[in-house]
Amino acid sequence: MEFYILFWICIIGLCLGSFFNVVILRSLSGESIVFPPSKCPKCQHKLFWWHNIPILSYIILRGKCYFCREKISIQYPIIEFLTMIIFAASYLKFGFSWKCLFVIFWLSCFLIMTMTDLREKVADCNIAIIAALSGILYNFLQTGGNGIISSVLGLIAGAIVLEAIARSGCLLVGTRAMGEADTYAAGALGAIFGLQNTGYVLLYALIASMIFIIPMFLYNRYRQGDKYTCILSILFILSALVYNKLYPNFWMAGILTLIGFMLAAAILKSIKTKENRNYLPYIPAFVLGALYFIFFSVNF
Ligand SMILES: [Zn+2]
Repeated sequence: MEFYILFWICIIGLCLGSFFNVVILRSLSGESIVFPPSKCPKCQHKLFWWHNIPILSYIILRGKCYFCREKISIQYPIIEFLTMIIFAASYLKFGFSWKCLFVIFWLSCFLIMTMTDLREKVADCNIAIIAALSGILYNFLQTGGNGIISSVLGLIAGAIVLEAIARSGCLLVGTRAMGEADTYAAGALGAIFGLQNTGYVLLYALIASMIFIIPMFLYNRYRQGDKYTCILSILFILSALVYNKLYPNFWMAGILTLIGFMLAAAILKSIKTKENRNYLPYIPAFVLGALYFIFFSVNF
């Protein structure tokens, strides 16, 4: 019985994932979500019903348009698969409950924002606003008036923290360190998790962002021929490891601090001089922070 329910939840997830693909694509192209009917973006040919089956169609068509053999983006099956995982994981964690429905809704919003952010480097602020409103509603249903207060304060706190970081970028290097969508997204997280948890979620997001940002930053520096910063970073990581594991003494701490200062100077110099500052994916980091909090924290 349990397996049977899970099976249908996965099917619903797949179908909605298919719908999210349309939302992502058309929110980028500015088309209506309901019309026109699905067609190949290359040859504009209207698709048959069996071209729209989640994941299966991609496999049957071997990733190519039935009419013009144009390659179909791997984004479609990936989104369908991830939506299915969201549905299944939320059900397994929270069972049939309001909480489960809200979690599914928020994670779906995050998924859409992440994809538009990764694809076009713009995330839809409207989706963050919808997520924030549903967060306030959820907290009201959970704990009434106190829930609303905590939720609204969380929204304000999340947005202020991110806006402060973004503006400090203006002071430091003369441009916003982050986009406006990041402020909206942090506000949404605050509204969903409430004031008492906003700090934790943002902290998890910060840790998650390091996973993306450090390798991306180094790769970009390397590509632009800046071997100096790359070598300093590697030296810094190595000496930090040596300090931690082998020689936690005064001299090693001195060397670590020195390399740290040289690295910080090199990074500041490089972001000050380069006009084409590189895009860094903060929204996916927020999502990872939220995922961690939802599924692994006792406070949620
Ligand atoms: Zn085609």
